[in-house]
Amino acid sequence: MIKTFIRKILGVKESVRDTSVAVVLGPAEHGIDPKLVSSNAIRVTSSLQEAGFKAFVVGGAVRDLLLGVKPKDFDIATDATPEQVKRLFRRAFIIGRRFQIVHVMFGQDLLEVTTFRGAGDSNAPKDEHGRVLRDNSFGPQHEDAMRRDFTINAMYYDPATQQVMDYHGGIGDIRAKILRIIGQPEARYREDPVRMLRVVRFAARLGFTIEPATRAPIAVMAPLIDNVPAARVFDEMLKLLMSGHALACLQQLRTEGLHHGLLPLLDVVLEQPIGMKFVTLALASTDNRIKAGKGVSPSFLFASLLWHQVVEKWSAYRAAGESSIPALHLAADDVLDSQTEQLAIQRKIASDMRDIWSMQPRFERRTGKAPYKLLEHVRFRAGYDFLLLRCESGEIDMELGEWWTAFYDGDASERELLLTSERMPVAGARKKRAPRRAKKPGEREGVADGSGEE
Ligand code: ATP
Ligand code: MG
Repeated sequence: MIKTFIRKILGVKESVRDTSVAVVLGPAEHGIDPKLVSSNAIRVTSSLQEAGFKAFVVGGAVRDLLLGVKPKDFDIATDATPEQVKRLFRRAFIIGRRFQIVHVMFGQDLLEVTTFRGAGDSNAPKDEHGRVLRDNSFGPQHEDAMRRDFTINAMYYDPATQQVMDYHGGIGDIRAKILRIIGQPEARYREDPVRMLRVVRFAARLGFTIEPATRAPIAVMAPLIDNVPAARVFDEMLKLLMSGHALACLQQLRTEGLHHGLLPLLDVVLEQPIGMKFVTLALASTDNRIKAGKGVSPSFLFASLLWHQVVEKWSAYRAAGESSIPALHLAADDVLDSQTEQLAIQRKIASDMRDIWSMQPRFERRTGKAPYKLLEHVRFRAGYDFLLLRCESGEIDMELGEWWTAFYDGDASERELLLTSERMPVAGARKKRAPRRAKKPGEREGVADGSGEE
């Protein structure tokens, strides 16, 4: 306490602490509930340890365990080389070209096993802005800790001894709910600008405060994200949006000045009052689904985030004389093109987004065979959920959504009646839905959940 105080008044940085030695905490001090540790993670650490290696649960999993939250995945760190790890497990695959890690599989469960990384040398190749391109050296455990991003992400847990090893004061920061970058903030952001997005994601998701020195350089250094490969930015955005705190994350990005001019997607989302209601609803629904343990689809999410840009261009093309459906396709192309430069939206996701959008005008056709054909669409459910969001946000009349809910829920005769009336015959006449068709393998749900399904 006094030491910290003296450090503070002398302005001595945390780096003064000897970070090559870990503070070791026993179960009574850290309070981790061993029941939250996955049995497969224990299988991996104990196999490695029996073979004479060091092995720990590391990173986000330890942070979550300390917060009393069940981790969604477990990463393992070891001093065994990837080859040595691979030999110990029946289903283990070395992946990655630049820095090899091992994927160990047990059934559907995948664990990532990483060899301790070294502090790296200052000659590691960098781009012209200082972003480290390759740095693949192995090293001792304390150097591995130093290379991690935040103090709360740099702890190691040994399930066998139930000890936590803390090199950078992570325990203290967890307790004080502080997000603090390891090392010199500017240098760490320059090495890897994605860390700025990670700060925001963790702060919003955990409800932690960003320590002032960690926070200060972000506004100035934000443009460095431009130089990060689009696929990585996309992955990080996806994590952010699927964190269960998407709304809070986006607000925080805005506060930190990370949205402007950097990610076209966010410019669009956050600087458009008309679209805001729609986006807020979509994100709130995503967050709720994630918190309830339900699936969400990235394509639905991105389709929602970009919808208002599509709508704007769609009406411009129509005003220029294009008919409705081709105009929508042109608008979708424009929007997807403008996003992919910065944000490599994967091809499958982009094609699902296009499906969701292009279904929208088809919902307006409520006669003849058209509605039945639309019901058959493989992405009908996502398209329909999207339609409901448009209704809820006030973009289109609620009546269209109600008609489709009744049609979707209805039996054969009710459907016929709806087709002839083309309007909702009796307000609120909702019946129990017929059993849904079985999901195809790999098929995922839309995020909006208009019908209280599941
Ligand atoms: P989540 O719960 O979202 O998975 P996480 O902390 O586990 O959070 P991951 O992306 O899975 O995040 O990374 C695992 C660990 O690897 C982190 O906890 C951190 O120690 C380290 N790490 C990840 N990305 C970086 C980075 N850009 N720079 C430094 N260390 C990183
Ligand atoms: Mg993780």
